[in-house]
Amino acid sequence: MVRVAEEKPLACWAGKDRIGDEVLPSLTVIFRTGGCAWNRCLMCGYRSVRVEGTPDQLAARVLAQLHWVRVHHNPASYDLVKIYTSGSFLDPREVPPAARDAVGDAFRGKIVIAETRPEFVTPEEIGDFIARVDDGSRAVPCYAAIGLETTDDGIREKCIRKGFTFADFRRAARSARDAGAGVKAYLLHKPPFLTEREAREDMSRSLSALAGQADLISLNPCTVQSGTTVEWLWQRGAYRPPYLWSVVQVLEGAPVHVTCDPVGGGYPRGPHNCGRCDRELVAGIRDYSLTGDRGLLRALLNWECGCKAEWEMVMERERPYAMPLTR
Ligand code: SF4
Ligand SMILES: [Zn+2]
Repeated sequence: MVRVAEEKPLACWAGKDRIGDEVLPSLTVIFRTGGCAWNRCLMCGYRSVRVEGTPDQLAARVLAQLHWVRVHHNPASYDLVKIYTSGSFLDPREVPPAARDAVGDAFRGKIVIAETRPEFVTPEEIGDFIARVDDGSRAVPCYAAIGLETTDDGIREKCIRKGFTFADFRRAARSARDAGAGVKAYLLHKPPFLTEREAREDMSRSLSALAGQADLISLNPCTVQSGTTVEWLWQRGAYRPPYLWSVVQVLEGAPVHVTCDPVGGGYPRGPHNCGRCDRELVAGIRDYSLTGDRGLLRALLNWECGCKAEWEMVMERERPYAMPLTR
């Protein structure tokens, strides 16, 4: 039994984030919650993270984590809060409404970006939350952040097992906008079963299709998390995270500014090249996320390293995974 007094979030850190043309001091919080109601995505290592208990016990634990955040991070030190859970912040079974209200009150006056599946974005749920957060000082006080992953319904279903469609995302985006919130979309670069080239093309198509549908877009290169199907494939040589070259190329060709934090960049479980050039590319991608300077991406693509020829060969010669035509 965990004592509520000892409760703290799964993770919490200060940083900086770009919103529109502004770079703001930010706080990222990953709350421990009741866990994802969907719980099936092939790459997700958070799906097994959940705390058990009655709604009241769950609310008490989230409130204790919120208290920890307020004690350890001076509220005056950040303008933007990014809230993640091990699922959907707006799912009332995962984050009881009393706890969600308290989170809204605690971050009143900040810009709050809260991650959720689209089925939980109703005008009522998000409207209630915005009313808590909004003190009138921010043009857009709150963003519904949805892990759309790709705009291709086939890839989202077959390669990710996400369980919702692009139409569901668009409906949620309308609900968010009607309630006065903005929309953030997360894209997943290179889910399993795609070649390096197919993955890059999927991201390029998704970025074009998202124009006008999302105010903020973040590209997440896929990482190999423990206990996932992606890890099972990776251990058998059937999955490789994207090359950093591909990530830079997607960002450079995007029709809008796209943020990207290549988590695990340069490591076998994260997006990586050869080990010699990774550090520069990861740092460059992070710099671009903050500055929006495309010249930086072009300079990275012109960087010379022996692994570039390998990447070009993979782009040209890797063939799609083929199912048998007959039994
Ligand atoms: S990726 Fe999101 S929706 Fe999918 S299992 Fe993980 S927490 Fe749930
Ligand atoms: Zn290299």
